[in-house]
Amino acid sequence: MFYDKKDGTTQCRLCPHECVVSEGKTGICGVRKNIKGKLYSLVYGKLCSTNIDPIEKKPLFHFAPGTECLSIATVGCNLSCAFCQNFEISHPPSGGILGIDITPEKVVEAATNRELPGIAYTYTEPTIAWEFYHEIMKLAKKAGLYNVWISNGYISPEPARKIAKLMDAVNVDLKGDIGFYRKLCGVPNEEPMHTALRIYKDAGVWIEVTNLVIPGHNDRPEQARKLAEWVKENLGPDTPMHFSRFYPQYKLDDIQPTPVKTVEAAAKAAQNAGLRWAYVGNVPGNGMEDTVCPECGDVLIKRAGMSMASFKQSCERCKVDVPIAGKEWMK
Ligand code: SF4
Ligand SMILES: [Zn+2]
Repeated sequence: MFYDKKDGTTQCRLCPHECVVSEGKTGICGVRKNIKGKLYSLVYGKLCSTNIDPIEKKPLFHFAPGTECLSIATVGCNLSCAFCQNFEISHPPSGGILGIDITPEKVVEAATNRELPGIAYTYTEPTIAWEFYHEIMKLAKKAGLYNVWISNGYISPEPARKIAKLMDAVNVDLKGDIGFYRKLCGVPNEEPMHTALRIYKDAGVWIEVTNLVIPGHNDRPEQARKLAEWVKENLGPDTPMHFSRFYPQYKLDDIQPTPVKTVEAAAKAAQNAGLRWAYVGNVPGNGMEDTVCPECGDVLIKRAGMSMASFKQSCERCKVDVPIAGKEWMK
């Protein structure tokens, strides 16, 4: 889907790269190939990773909290982030299409047989498995399951609008400013991510945003504040934002893990910018993964090791309600 044909060449329209893919070649994502003038998805029916995870691990903290979901991935990605935390499957060194063959029906069955309430499309970029995931998501909806995407947001508007109809929640990475995206991710700017987020918002999808804080690249509180201001203005002050600690990985393996106080400062800067629910990720036990009342600071939702330990939706004293989506899937 989403491509044009021109004299044996194809032009993909799935993501803003809009790759011109000639006979026998693949696009930047490595998983969409021109075979005899038609563009094929090489990852259709091919899962490279399946797990059962708490939804908190995605991270999604305000959507169906306390539930576990079937988490799946196909290989490939349309960005080339130097700090990728999942590079073995997003950019497999062998370049091969790794994975097991499975039908959309079997994926949904895998969730329903285990009585899981939903499916997360995660670990790599869901956009580039659009056709496969679209089929799974249609069947999942019929079976009463939720669908959540963990995405870099680099998707063109038409596929974003179509998939949003089947999506219950999404966590999109906002990685940094234009210079950051250019230098470390291989894309010219962050505008497509903003457009995708606005499309998901308009479609009524529950949105949370993640920012990986990398020493020396995007770790100034000023940078967190700017991201938070964009989120507040465009997605609303109740949009949860997760600031995540970086660990040395892939091409940035010479940078030390982010100091905990730096990630905490980023979350505080977001709170000061007016976001009511800012969290610190990848630092278990520091308390900043709990949901606290923004007025009095009382812990309302306690999390431990990426699972929910206790749940209170309101602070009765301050008359503050925690926004929670997907309650129908909670036990
Ligand atoms: S989805 Fe892949 S082939 Fe299509 S434009 Fe994006 S990177 Fe290129
Ligand atoms: Zn309170």
